[in-house]
Amino acid sequence: MSTTYQVNGGVAVITLNNPPVNGFGHSTRAGVFEGLKQAEADASVQAVVIIGGGKVFCGGADIREFGTPAAFAEPGLHAVIAAIEASSKPVVAAIHGVVMGGGLELALGCHYRVMAPGVQVALPEVNIGLIPGGGGTQRLPRVLPVEMALQMVTSGASVPSDKLAKVPGQQLIAKLIEGDLLAGAQAFALEVAAVRPMPRVRDLPAPTVADAGLFDKARADMAKARRGLVSPQRCIDAIEIATKDDIDTGIQKELEIFKAIMVGPQAKAMQHAFFGERAASKIPDVPDNTPTREVKQVAVIGAGTMGGGITMCFLNAGIPVKLLEMKQEAIDRGVGVIRKNYEAQVAKGKLAQDKYEQRMSLLTTTLSYDDIAQADMVIEAVFENMEVKAQVFTKLDAVMKPGAILASNTSTLDVDKIAEVTKRPQDVVGLHFFSPANVMRLLEVVRSKHTAKDVMATVMQVAKKIKKVAVVSGVCDGFIGNRMFEQYVRQSFQLVEEGATVPQVDKAAEAFGFAMGPFRVGDLAGNDIGFAIRKRRRVEQPDVVYSPVGDAICELGRFGQKVGKGWYDYEAGKRDPIPSAEVQACIDKVRADKGITPRTISDEEIVNRLVLAMVNEGAQILEEGIASKASDIDMVYLTGYGFPLTWGGPMLYADLMGLPKVVELMKGFQALPGADQAFWTPAPLLARLVAEGKTFNGKA
Ligand code: NAD
Repeated sequence: MSTTYQVNGGVAVITLNNPPVNGFGHSTRAGVFEGLKQAEADASVQAVVIIGGGKVFCGGADIREFGTPAAFAEPGLHAVIAAIEASSKPVVAAIHGVVMGGGLELALGCHYRVMAPGVQVALPEVNIGLIPGGGGTQRLPRVLPVEMALQMVTSGASVPSDKLAKVPGQQLIAKLIEGDLLAGAQAFALEVAAVRPMPRVRDLPAPTVADAGLFDKARADMAKARRGLVSPQRCIDAIEIATKDDIDTGIQKELEIFKAIMVGPQAKAMQHAFFGERAASKIPDVPDNTPTREVKQVAVIGAGTMGGGITMCFLNAGIPVKLLEMKQEAIDRGVGVIRKNYEAQVAKGKLAQDKYEQRMSLLTTTLSYDDIAQADMVIEAVFENMEVKAQVFTKLDAVMKPGAILASNTSTLDVDKIAEVTKRPQDVVGLHFFSPANVMRLLEVVRSKHTAKDVMATVMQVAKKIKKVAVVSGVCDGFIGNRMFEQYVRQSFQLVEEGATVPQVDKAAEAFGFAMGPFRVGDLAGNDIGFAIRKRRRVEQPDVVYSPVGDAICELGRFGQKVGKGWYDYEAGKRDPIPSAEVQACIDKVRADKGITPRTISDEEIVNRLVLAMVNEGAQILEEGIASKASDIDMVYLTGYGFPLTWGGPMLYADLMGLPKVVELMKGFQALPGADQAFWTPAPLLARLVAEGKTFNGKA
């Protein structure tokens, strides 16, 4: 049993003991249940205290039990709460560290809650596609103002106990206890031992709302802020129910919503993302106990777009940075951009002035390699050119102290070759940040065939410190993200060649949930980048065929927003895409030249072709071991490419669709007039998984 039971001076103390966060799994629930029975039967016990062992009270359900029968084994959370509410002796939750999800629901079932200062209080279920299912949506709005409860449940964000204790009229926290929590809680329990009737949250009046439009406004806000997600909407429904129904009906309805949402695709997708993020930090052959190198001082080479953003990531994490450039003007420009970025945050009230100054004080600049020699890690972000990178790495090899990690932010070059420029290839690694580097969460960690395991372990740890989701990729053209994205873009060209329009493709992708369709992304990032890659491909891989539409618009100088025209026209100073007659004429000409009669293409076909193009490449990436698991690919897409969370990433999308259906669709695409047979041949791994009745993510 994951609890202990002790009686101290008339108070029974039940201690939750299920590290690391006292997840309220079956054996913890059973322990509390048994403890309550024992306390009830013991005449010397006047009151009960439930407290968490270790650093927290309870982080919520035990996520290790998700999807297993233990999650549903009795006593469930409802039964434990019912036992508390039926107890003839008061039960006090003594809370420190963290009280979340099922842990908070348990506490809300207790007669009193006492808390240490600084406790993180949250119902975060919304973020894994669920609603609280243990009475949280019914009890929280009875102890806090309904607006506040609504905010907590729909955002899943935590609120500190000190702040909650100050909310007028709140009944969540009976007392804040400084110092020894257990001693304070026991003393409190004895103080209230004789109070009758014992206060129960269920007996408090149903919450009332002053603003009748509160819930509809919340629905509209959430539809915008968390587009396409069902769980925030259902959270709002559940809180509204609390204002209308009696508590037992409310709890029943909450449970019905919980059960329905739990089996839906979004809950699967969001839980996949939640677990995928944690799994991404694990590298199969680099165990958790691999020693790491100390990284206390970082150097960045190049103060351009990426170098500046990367520098900010470290300054934000309190790690000093030395920024090296070739010329003072470049330093001044780069530092100016960093300052402007921070000043914008200060102006918006997102960053305190003193924090801004503190961050800038961690930044020093230099024109000399000698000044960076003592850095523990250096990240190169100079021009994307092998000769320039080779010069930089030769210099780094000569000056950097032994054991320093030498990283490159290259997006296309071969990290093995960069490593081989040095005499210490084991210390070289790719750190592929995404633009804007200080904002985007994704970091592709490119592991060369030379990279030492402790370097991998160190950079994964550093990534966490700078709040990135690090995903390991092997060395290949485009790594995981851009290699798959190229297939998506190829397919978007193909679709317009066959008969779709540019706005139709974008709208279909956006309706599916992409932040922006492929053509709008092209206009934002610059169509010249792909143009250059295609020129290289024509030489290196002549069998990779592209529709000529992409080159045709680039030959007209339509490089995107930066020149005021791309796949769309733009009015001066505006970013709204306007369908372009010139682009359509280009597409018509390509069709005429190739003798293509345009056909009507459904939005469904557009989405499936765009996504399955990525899936097939993803399968290849898995087969080659470039990614070690399908969820890593999904994390790249969720955190770096705006793939809709509602589908959990391209590989999970394929799993949810069913791989036999994926293959059937691909075969259908092969049968279309003029189809690229090689492109739509299912990757060997995909075919094999279908034959074996498996999925990318292992579970059928
Ligand atoms: P950029 O042109 O904005 O900046 C490059 C900077 O490096 C310039 O300030 C230049 O003065 C400096 N530089 C050039 N050679 C140098 C040298 N020998 N020593 C010191 N400084 C030198 O380029 P960027 O967009 O920041 O790209 C930098 C790297 O990041 C490239 O490898 C690029 O492929 C990669 N990258 C770019 C993006 C992006 O979206 N821009 C995304 C991911 C990765």
